Amino acid sequence: MTRLLVLSGPSGVGKTTVVRQLRERHPEVWVSVSATTRFPRPGEVDGVHYTFVGDEEFDRLVADDALLEWAEFAGNRYGTPRQGVERRLADGVPVVLEIDLQGARQVRERVPDALLVFVAPPSWDELVRRLSGRGTEAPDVVERRLEVARTELAAEPEFDVTLVNTSVDEVCDALVGLLER
Ligand code: 5GP
Repeated sequence: MTRLLVLSGPSGVGKTTVVRQLRERHPEVWVSVSATTRFPRPGEVDGVHYTFVGDEEFDRLVADDALLEWAEFAGNRYGTPRQGVERRLADGVPVVLEIDLQGARQVRERVPDALLVFVAPPSWDELVRRLSGRGTEAPDVVERRLEVARTELAAEPEFDVTLVNTSVDEVCDALVGLLER
């Protein structure tokens, strides 16, 4: 019953909000804390949202085979520390990873019985609206982000389950349901 659930999907779809809610409402589920070389955003706490590391430290984690998977995304590296995940799974604690598509593909290879969940936007127009934000970004930046999102959306058939993010509560409940299945 206990398993590893990988949550992925295009940027702008609301994965981070879903995971925040999952952490608050379902402490029985363990959400892995990734290591990243990107700088903290305001409000992000080291060891809570990410473990923020320098380039050398990240190189060392890779060399030591301490990461279950890792990928470069938008110029920064992100990876899942292997030990925490393996320990929880051995203890029978359900584990959720919120990672990008490249990472999801690696987990598929390395942990064949992991459940891969794709979070999809309610519609393409809705994703365009979310990615365009308040219209403060330059049109070419928005255009580039949409281009990436289009490629990311095309990966949906690789996943075991698709959850359409019409409501954060519903996605969160569905994830817990999948872990209990
Ligand atoms: P952000 O910088 O917005 O927090 O995250 C950027 C992207 O990196 C998101 O798609 C997020 O899911 C992904 N990400 C976060 N942690 C990891 C990780 O450990 N591994 C991989 N492969 N992607 C990650």
